[in-house]
Amino acid sequence: MSLLVIGSVAFDALETPFGKTDKILGGAGMFIALAASNFVKPINLVSVVGGDFLQSDIAMMQEHGVNTEGLQIKENEKSFFWKGRYFNDMNSRETLVTELNVLGDFDPIIPESYQDCSYLMLGNLAPQVQKQVIERLKNRPKLVVMDTMNFWMNIALDDLMQTIALVDVLSINDEEARQLAGDYSLRKAAKKIMAMGPKFLIIKKGEHGALLFHEEQVFFAPALPLEEVFDPTGAGDTFAGGFIGYLAKTDDYSFENMKRAVIHGSALASFCVEKFGPERIINLTETEVQERVQQFVNLASFEI
Ligand code: AMP
Repeated sequence: MSLLVIGSVAFDALETPFGKTDKILGGAGMFIALAASNFVKPINLVSVVGGDFLQSDIAMMQEHGVNTEGLQIKENEKSFFWKGRYFNDMNSRETLVTELNVLGDFDPIIPESYQDCSYLMLGNLAPQVQKQVIERLKNRPKLVVMDTMNFWMNIALDDLMQTIALVDVLSINDEEARQLAGDYSLRKAAKKIMAMGPKFLIIKKGEHGALLFHEEQVFFAPALPLEEVFDPTGAGDTFAGGFIGYLAKTDDYSFENMKRAVIHGSALASFCVEKFGPERIINLTETEVQERVQQFVNLASFEI
């Protein structure tokens, strides 16, 4: 089934207890697209980069089945830049720099060839841009999944609330869920957030897994305990890409199938953190993905 992805395509600079990087390839849309490409192709990407972006990175995305017709290149401007530093626990981080650059006035143009879209993934971007994408599609997709972050809660809460009201699934981390709902209990926060519009809510808890909520039901997917976590950047987006990619492949968005999708998303995210940036998910085989999904099945299954 056709999948449309929007989200930042960026340069990131990272500091972790294990090392530092200069500007490397990053961005929510890039992680989502690469992750989803393990399940469906092509991935129709809508995003924007500056003249400083590398042609080789665009070529790499294309080799993974990402259609870049909707990737605008603003020759005289700079790409979005984000710099983050991770604390020793590797589960929490601080944003040191956010330079919106080309994202500041991004007009998301949807190529005509993208119009037939069954699954829409609104990756992290300004919420009014996410909303424009929904409005510019002639037909509403079967399923709209949205990811966002505290940055937008802090500077564009009204826009964010309007966009949240239009989506089927919202994916955020635990800290953001608490901030959005104003409630410490994740169960209560989930109720409040689902009352804002989304029928399904995913709360990501980093190395502690993810929760999927729908009405009174809740499903828990663990994270795989890894010996080494090198760089968690993009894990949330990789999770979202795996989640929607699996749903688009199976074309089934029942709660039961969403459980499988959450496990597939978690499996891909577990690869993402093993190396800096997207390095690990660029070089991933189908067998590796299948084996890891099986590790998740083994991790949480028991007899009673
Ligand atoms: P994650 O680790 O899954 O939360 O996502 C990290 C990615 O999000 C990085 O590659 C950043 O480039 C991107 N990012 C960080 N802040 C923003 C923002 N305000 N808008 C869009 N993308 C962002």
